[in-house]
Amino acid sequence: MPGPTMQPVFRFAPSPNGFLHLGHALSALLNADLAARLGGHLLLRIEDIDPERCRPEYEAAIIEDLAWLGLSFPEPPLRQAREMAADAGPLDALRRRGLLYRCFCSRSETARLVAEREAAGTPWPRDPDGAPFHAGPCADLSEREAAARAASGAPHAWRLRMARALEEIGPVPSVRCLDAQGRDAGDRPARPADWGDVVLARRDVPTSYHLAVVVDDARQGVTHVVRGADLERATDAHRVLQALLGLPPPAYHHHRLLAGPDGQKLAKSTRSTALRALRAQGWTPADVRRTVGLGPAT
Ligand code: GLU
Repeated sequence: MPGPTMQPVFRFAPSPNGFLHLGHALSALLNADLAARLGGHLLLRIEDIDPERCRPEYEAAIIEDLAWLGLSFPEPPLRQAREMAADAGPLDALRRRGLLYRCFCSRSETARLVAEREAAGTPWPRDPDGAPFHAGPCADLSEREAAARAASGAPHAWRLRMARALEEIGPVPSVRCLDAQGRDAGDRPARPADWGDVVLARRDVPTSYHLAVVVDDARQGVTHVVRGADLERATDAHRVLQALLGLPPPAYHHHRLLAGPDGQKLAKSTRSTALRALRAQGWTPADVRRTVGLGPAT
């Protein structure tokens, strides 16, 4: 918990897999407003761990759009992909403690196993993102067998043994919440068991969103996380990783999500709300602030 003399550190952490839209503008501007109000600063992090979807041209566009909105950052952005190869430490630490297992199931294999179980009449648990819990035999493979399969080139992810992790950390951690003005809004208990055995290293990448985000928040000294409500439940899994790795937990505010013209949550594919499309139509940064429900810049 930041002490009274500690400067608050906020971050905006977009993934360069599309153009920023009004929802991102809300997130970035709210972060900047709260950082200014609390006398802190705002960092930029480019969350580019997904090699399939992230593109340098989107990163360049993000940086340009943020500058157009009037945001500046005191440090060059941290790029996850560039940093992660250099830091296998957190994953190794968890592996050595017997908290991880290799998962050889592909998505289609998992879908087949889940369908089989559900056909037998048992509804299979899903995590808060709707992904089915691990359904294969991987958690029970002996280390020898799993290592042999991996050595023979079988692609695999690494999953957290959530039940064992929760036993290890003791009392379930809570999430320190902030309101939309950045004021303390009390604690809520986390419900990490709802996530099951989360993936901490993907088949194609030696990390995952959940692991990278907690490691990078700690690496950047982030004290205040302000992000969309779609990530609120992910925080429950993040609190477990912070407890396991001994990382200081930030306080969290999850802001409302904006809906698009179709009433659905804005997506990067909704071209009409992309900041660059609005800019081309003559919108100003003040129009953006007003539209996302923020008052004039102070
Ligand atoms: N990179 C994530 C996104 O673009 C945000 C992650 C976070 O703020 O924790 O949706």
